[in-house]
Amino acid sequence: MPNEQITIHAIINGEKVPTEKQAPRENPTHPDEIVGYAPLNTKEETVQAIDAAYNALKSWAWTEVEDRMERMERAIQKIKDATPEIATLLSREHGKALYDSKGEIAISLMWMEFACKNVKKVVSPQEKEHENGRTIITFDPVGVVSAISPWNYPISLSTIKIAPALLTGNTMVVKPSPFAPLAVSKVVEIIANEFPPGVLNLVHGDAEVGIELTSNPKVAKIAFTGGTKTAKSIMKAASETIKKMTLELGGNDAAIVLEDFDVNDEKAMRRMVISNFLTAGQICMIAKRIYVHRSIYDAFVEKYIEAANKWIRVGDPFHPDVTVGPVNNKNQVKYVRSLVEDAKSKGAKVIPLGKILNPELMDNGYFLQPTVVLGADYHDPIVVEEQFGPTVPILPFDDEEQVIELHNESIYGLTSSVWGEEEHAVKVARRIEAGTTMINTAAVQGLDVQFPFGGVKQSGVGREYGEEGLKSYVETHVINLPK
Ligand code: NAD
Repeated sequence: MPNEQITIHAIINGEKVPTEKQAPRENPTHPDEIVGYAPLNTKEETVQAIDAAYNALKSWAWTEVEDRMERMERAIQKIKDATPEIATLLSREHGKALYDSKGEIAISLMWMEFACKNVKKVVSPQEKEHENGRTIITFDPVGVVSAISPWNYPISLSTIKIAPALLTGNTMVVKPSPFAPLAVSKVVEIIANEFPPGVLNLVHGDAEVGIELTSNPKVAKIAFTGGTKTAKSIMKAASETIKKMTLELGGNDAAIVLEDFDVNDEKAMRRMVISNFLTAGQICMIAKRIYVHRSIYDAFVEKYIEAANKWIRVGDPFHPDVTVGPVNNKNQVKYVRSLVEDAKSKGAKVIPLGKILNPELMDNGYFLQPTVVLGADYHDPIVVEEQFGPTVPILPFDDEEQVIELHNESIYGLTSSVWGEEEHAVKVARRIEAGTTMINTAAVQGLDVQFPFGGVKQSGVGREYGEEGLKSYVETHVINLPK
């Protein structure tokens, strides 16, 4: 495994910009190893990037969609060719297992291809003759887009914004998270090289850069994925100039297991386990609480633990048998540990899961032993907070009204899943407040880029993926020619 240090740069107006200040990115598996350095851009550099996007917009907005598609298709091919190198870098800086990094790049490419194939449908003007005259409707770019992404899926949650924004004629500034800035920068660089200078700019840093990106009057749209708390300050910053917004935020997704779920269905159990512990549980759309009908609760817990012990193998992300790597950063380790300790101190039973393949790494790296928590109260922090780590509480319920209420009382509503006889599960799903509800699988496995994805309540505003995801980057312009 190559372990050289990488230095990345901001990209402003097609140029790589050297910066004075840089932040090291550590390897969560071996925190004393620095994987690379990302710039800490200043407010002035961020303004330069926004200005570059603003100036490039004047001509880019009027380019032919075929030209944009060709450029994106070239970028897709280059990302495909570079996948092994990018996936390796992602696993080193993030901690996710290598197969998981490859999976993230694969879903990014799937979406970029979908966006290329479907953009014409979204931007082609419509013309109608009617009794009052003639009407032309065009679908124009919104303008300069600020795209801000989190650390858990840095590549897919950036390309989910870049592909539709550029294909529909917008220009943009992208800012990844300082907790996983390196691999995504390689991807952004590949794409930026296929487009004219200023169309796709890249800056790095944290809140200071983010605040400029969300308040600068030249920015027309914000595409943000991250925490609900950050989104609240972004909404305030953006309100001054009424920016368009897509917000993909936190969740406290539930899995509801009905009395007619077959606990002996090993495949379904495996799907459920993967959907709780993939990427060490650091995914917005995986179950963070499991409610099981009391009549099958004990049998379910036994089979769930059996399935988890088979699938979970914790260790070095580059070990071929490892399914769960370390957690991304020290704060996250502390936070998840505090939730589990809190539940334990209140009498809950914490059961360790899986096999540790590299015991020598556990003390130094940011590892957490995956666990299930039994006997927690419905309103304990381990149940109502978004843990974002490798732990999940399993709780019994007595009837559907109760479980639907428990589900819907959350401030979040991103994804959810219902497990049981199909028609019964659909009936329950219809009453669930969420952007996506999966039946007998979880969103992370059934994810399909052709369908819109997003949250209700405090889990978000708007949708990404699908045609809706493309449409959120255009403004409808009606040109009327009355008789
Ligand atoms: P975060 O909100 O801390 O950071 C997200 C991004 O916002 C980072 O790039 C950060 O630098 C930037 N930022 C911080 N302060 C800012 C400010 N004041 N103005 C503008 N930008 C600012 O989130 P995180 O810890 O990186 O990611 C985890 C969160 O993301 C979880 O809550 C998770 O559920 C959520 N998430 C949601 C989805 C979804 O699709 N709904 C997907 C992945 C992650």
